[in-house]
Amino acid sequence: MIIIMLGAQGTGKGTVAGLLTEATGWPQVSTGDIFRKNIKEETELGKEANKYIAKGMLVPDEITVPMVIDRLNEDDATNGVILDGFPRTVEQAEKLDEILAEKGKKVDLVINLTTPREEIITRMINRRVCSNQECKATYNLRMHPPVKEGICDKCGAELVQREDDSNEESIRNRLKIYDEKTSPLVSYYESRGVLRTEEVSEAINRLGKDVAEDILKDINNK
Ligand code: AMP
Repeated sequence: MIIIMLGAQGTGKGTVAGLLTEATGWPQVSTGDIFRKNIKEETELGKEANKYIAKGMLVPDEITVPMVIDRLNEDDATNGVILDGFPRTVEQAEKLDEILAEKGKKVDLVINLTTPREEIITRMINRRVCSNQECKATYNLRMHPPVKEGICDKCGAELVQREDDSNEESIRNRLKIYDEKTSPLVSYYESRGVLRTEEVSEAINRLGKDVAEDILKDINNK
């Protein structure tokens, strides 16, 4: 099953994707995580991608698309995959449709997470992530703080702030790009009958965990 996580930054896509992965065994393929791993390891791809990521810009398709194709060709992606952060433009969505069609597959479900904008900015500023690339647990200093300050509950590694979350200009730039380039994907997938919109918000007390539970019930009933 091919599942796509859609929604602006800070809506909890990574959290929902992680829970779906835990329950289904299908890998979470996060383009942002793959880029960050490459940046940390100082690979050529990482150095090139970081020129764009640090400014909150999209990495060009010439770099991003082949990277996704390689990841989807790995053995663990045969039965299912949870795409988190790709596609981010209509061009990438069309490319993904082509890649999947060659494998006799299609996008089965797109989960569109929505959160009020003021809440999103507070969440991004308060987001902390585990520095251990194998763990990658995400926390929120306000809503979901770690038990011990600065330390990951799951693996004990240090928690850090993503470089692109520490800079308000980058946050605003990423949200602007989301509105301009990524939000048209909502109607793209709605017209294909695969869109499921879910509000994740403190105001209505609905968390990513609740959304993941509902989706899993539906997947199990299919
Ligand atoms: P994320 O962790 O999904 O917020 O991604 C972090 C950054 O990686 C984004 O702000 C972009 O610069 C870059 N990135 C991630 N996914 C893509 C994509 N599908 N296309 C282009 N750039 C991407």
